[in-house]
Amino acid sequence: MTKYIFVTGGVTSSLGKGILSASLAKLLQARGYRVTIQKFDPYINVDPGTMNPYEHGECYVTDDGAETDLDLGHYERFLNIPTSQANNVTTGQVYQTVINRERNGDYLGKTVQVIPHITDEIKRRMMLLGGTGNYDIVVSEIGGTVGDIESLPYIEALRQVKWDLGNSNCLVIHLTLIPYLKAAGELKTKPTQHSVRELLEIGVQPDILVCRTEKTLSLALKKKIALFCNVSANAVIESIDAKSIYSVPLLMMKEKLDRIALSKLKLPLRDEPQMDSWLEFLKSLKNSKKVVKIGLVGKYVELQDAYKSINESFIHGGALNECKVSVHAIHSETINEKNFEQKLKSVDAILVAPGFGERGIQGKILACEYARVNKIPFLGICLGMQCAVIEYARNVLKLKNAHSTEIKPNSLHPVIDLMEEQKKVVKKGGTMRLGAYPCDINPESKAFEVYKQTSILERHRHRFEFNNKYLEKFEEAGLIASGINPENKLVEIVELRDHPFYIGVQYHPELKSTVDNPHPLFVQFIKAAMEHKYSFEKVETQISKEDIILN
Ligand code: GLN
Repeated sequence: MTKYIFVTGGVTSSLGKGILSASLAKLLQARGYRVTIQKFDPYINVDPGTMNPYEHGECYVTDDGAETDLDLGHYERFLNIPTSQANNVTTGQVYQTVINRERNGDYLGKTVQVIPHITDEIKRRMMLLGGTGNYDIVVSEIGGTVGDIESLPYIEALRQVKWDLGNSNCLVIHLTLIPYLKAAGELKTKPTQHSVRELLEIGVQPDILVCRTEKTLSLALKKKIALFCNVSANAVIESIDAKSIYSVPLLMMKEKLDRIALSKLKLPLRDEPQMDSWLEFLKSLKNSKKVVKIGLVGKYVELQDAYKSINESFIHGGALNECKVSVHAIHSETINEKNFEQKLKSVDAILVAPGFGERGIQGKILACEYARVNKIPFLGICLGMQCAVIEYARNVLKLKNAHSTEIKPNSLHPVIDLMEEQKKVVKKGGTMRLGAYPCDINPESKAFEVYKQTSILERHRHRFEFNNKYLEKFEEAGLIASGINPENKLVEIVELRDHPFYIGVQYHPELKSTVDNPHPLFVQFIKAAMEHKYSFEKVETQISKEDIILN
């Protein structure tokens, strides 16, 4: 029978429920359990696909084409197994289902209410993944903070589930904050006491408290928290601030969170968690002596979460290369004809980020040109790839007004154009080309050197595409389509023949990079950046030696 672990949050948001859920799931998986994680988001949007990155950070896309919360990215990066539509539930989806049922007359004249109709639908979704028989344990993260009006129905559903399943089949972990008051020189437990009381008011007794803290919790303090919150002292877990999110599973292992969870669920401990490869990864991460500076050109760079998966992919790929990637964020709106050399000259490689709309596009196109002309390793993702195509059309093919019809609908040379299947689409939500699609790779290409295989599956999220009417012209001039969708012939990868590493991809490789499987494109891109930096340094020293001789 599947067992359920729920993770709630108290006191404040941003305590890292996603990382805690992923870390615990990782430890249980490393003990040989089949584990998955799902997230319940309390907002009314059906999915975060229509939300601005400033509001919600990156939108993470699954293989089956769901636009989901960025925490699902952490789940995949930690567990190395794909998630799906079922792993992310929002209040919008719950209400949509219930309202559709009501319109169909399924409630037979009953008044439709939050309890039981909304809570029943939440409960059904809480049990869905467990019902497949594919998992021993399902970890469910409840978004928001206990006490929020929005998350109330979820906590009520959780109360009912715990009652239905019994304590040994359903565990509640409450992640809370123990703030340190500098003036008093003390860690304070009161906010946690209040937050647990808030849960108790709804009828939920947490089994384990995980306490975020910047200072170590003494045993006396743990006992005090235990006394006020009706948990045993060994179930008060310290979660000290960590430098890297990837240290958290090991910190939780040290705190025995996995052991306590298993004993409460009356499950055998099995073997000690197999974390050898994880440890290796952390070791390379920490011991990396080399550093490359990669320019990330995008328009949401002020907000770290907007490019979450790209930043994490740099960490995975960097560790494999034993090289730290220092990401140098460059706001594309600040790049112009006058300053682009100045802005880009110090980086060892350039990544032009995905995006939508006109704002900042000119800066992205200039960054593509700079990387192409100066032979700087380049990776363009989605809009980044489209910008590389536009730049090549304008400056090499001399198609002066080449553009994407996303930005200029009646462009004279629409080298990037709306996909046929998108032409009739009017609704915005969930209507892009989404999810995993196959791509065939030309065996005589850089892309093949990177992937070392001829057919791949990568995830997409876009409406526009490379316009095949121009393909021949591009290829004759040296920008080739090295990856093509075998079914509809859409161009998925472009690359320059005459360049050490200049690749643009229509898909999002960053969504498939994990700790155990760093994405080959990022691994090779970082390697190219290292090679570039090394040869560049060599040239520099040669020049300075000559200088010495001459002077
Ligand atoms: N705006 C572009 C399109 O829709 C690129 C999308 C993206 O970068 N994810 O095709």
